[in-house]
Amino acid sequence: MENRVYNFSAGPSMLPQEVLKRAGAEILNYQGSGMSVMEMSHRSKVFQKIFDDTQAKFRKALKVPEGYKILFLQGGASTQFSAVPMNLMERTGRADYVVTGNFSKIACQEALKYGDVTLAGASADKNYTYIPTQSQIVVDPMASYFYYCANNTIYGTEWQYVPETGAVPLVCDMSSNILSRPVDVSKYGVIFAGAQKNMAPAGLTVVIVKESLAGSEMAATPLMLSYKVMIEKDSMYNTPPCWCIYMLGLMLDWLEEQGGVEGMEKIKHNKAQMLYDALDASKLFTCPAEADSRSEMNVVFRSASEELDAKFVAEATAAGFTNLKGHRSVGGMRASIYNAMPTQGVEKLVDFIKAFDKTNG
Ligand SMILES: *Cc1c(COP(=O)(O)O)cnc(C)c1O
Repeated sequence: MENRVYNFSAGPSMLPQEVLKRAGAEILNYQGSGMSVMEMSHRSKVFQKIFDDTQAKFRKALKVPEGYKILFLQGGASTQFSAVPMNLMERTGRADYVVTGNFSKIACQEALKYGDVTLAGASADKNYTYIPTQSQIVVDPMASYFYYCANNTIYGTEWQYVPETGAVPLVCDMSSNILSRPVDVSKYGVIFAGAQKNMAPAGLTVVIVKESLAGSEMAATPLMLSYKVMIEKDSMYNTPPCWCIYMLGLMLDWLEEQGGVEGMEKIKHNKAQMLYDALDASKLFTCPAEADSRSEMNVVFRSASEELDAKFVAEATAAGFTNLKGHRSVGGMRASIYNAMPTQGVEKLVDFIKAFDKTNG
């Protein structure tokens, strides 16, 4: 389509063009219903089918086993920073947190309101440029749960292993890498993700809950944050984010056409490798993340000076590569290459990086 840019935004981010086209084609009259999905009652038969199909497609894509409920909620990933301790902390009164970046730090601070929090691991000592190894983590066997963030969107690091925590349930924020690689869901108590990075427009949060963990929430837990209530009501205690759920369904169809999560893993690995190879081979650019902790979703890099970074961002924008400026707390550049970023977009950015390096190096 004309005038589309390669949008490297960290979120909300690109959606596949095929998905946007399909949504556009169905926008006035969804499958003969005479109305848009945006205008439908969430209790209608036609919407209930969209909801059920999307849930089933999600279950299939991530191989979510029996005994786990898939919830479609509102409030963003940040609301889960409170919902997690409110629903799970009561069991022993304490929880483990690993702080590897901005979002896990906020989640950890939020949890402090609800119980005793132990810092089970951290990477602030090297400005969040690495993921602690298993031997650098200390698990409290009495913790109600063990919390970590799988991909650090701002610092460009990603866990390459699942922490071993014995009987302590794992809770994971997968907002910025969900559906980019296979996950053994059976290892987790709760997985959550805001939709706007890798799944759908902003406004939907997907929460995968092990059903046996629900039901021990604190007495003061708001209805809307109770996993038990939302499990019982199948996410429809109130109006769910209908349009975003529909968009997620379209995205999951597209994902299946790419070979599902397994196919996507190969594609994203290839895209990230191309980009890191070009940066490693350049004279001008370095990546702060340690090699074995590099994110394959958010590629963070910088030159030797802020002036050159600004020049790179300005020239890249003019060439059709947008939103490459790094997060304000980190500076430099960040290329977010979520599922919807076509391989061609990364190839063209690599060419641009090589040319810029040659001209300015
Ligand atoms: C973006 C992001 C969040 C915040 O998501 P909201 O939906 O805006 O609350 C939380 N965690 C991670 C890892 C993120 O990338």
